[in-house]
Amino acid sequence: MQLRHLLPAALLLSMVCCMSAQNSPGNTNIVAVRLIGPNGNPGPVVQSPRVVKTDAEWEKQLGPAAYRVLRAKGTEAPFCGNLLDNHKDGVYFCAGCGLPLFASSSKFNSGTGWPSFYMPFASENITEIRDVSLGMARTEILCARCDGHLGHVFDDGPAPTHLRYCLNSVSLIFKDEAEVKKMGAEVAR
Ligand SMILES: [Zn+2]
Repeated sequence: MQLRHLLPAALLLSMVCCMSAQNSPGNTNIVAVRLIGPNGNPGPVVQSPRVVKTDAEWEKQLGPAAYRVLRAKGTEAPFCGNLLDNHKDGVYFCAGCGLPLFASSSKFNSGTGWPSFYMPFASENITEIRDVSLGMARTEILCARCDGHLGHVFDDGPAPTHLRYCLNSVSLIFKDEAEVKKMGAEVAR
């Protein structure tokens, strides 16, 4: 094929690459997130290094069940997760990188079999992307710092947001109020 025939194709390909880089998470090394503040509530927005690891490193750190969900976008079976019936006060952190993702104050019983929240700990900490897999149009939610798959968000939740963040238990690590307050006290020091 002659060069003049190849050029438009190369140009088109580079445009597609640019578009996908812009829309996908993971296109900068720094993310703006909120960590646990001095009183245990969300702190100010801070610049945090993105957490990037190889698949082999993630698999070793997470183990097979959490790896399948967080890194391979799997879904755990309903009514099986260990955090579904957790009613303690505290904060749910990303099992991949430790970013605070949801507070117990927004947890509710959705009846779906998955831990459900009506708002995130901080909107900055969650990335939303359109997911059209399995023949459905859904909004996938990921950890903003490590791009770990968390679940999906739907618009059939309770007031005040009417959103339902539907989570996999294995994507989360729960720390109770005393542990969160201790983390906050260390920040304040
Ligand atoms: Zn994370």
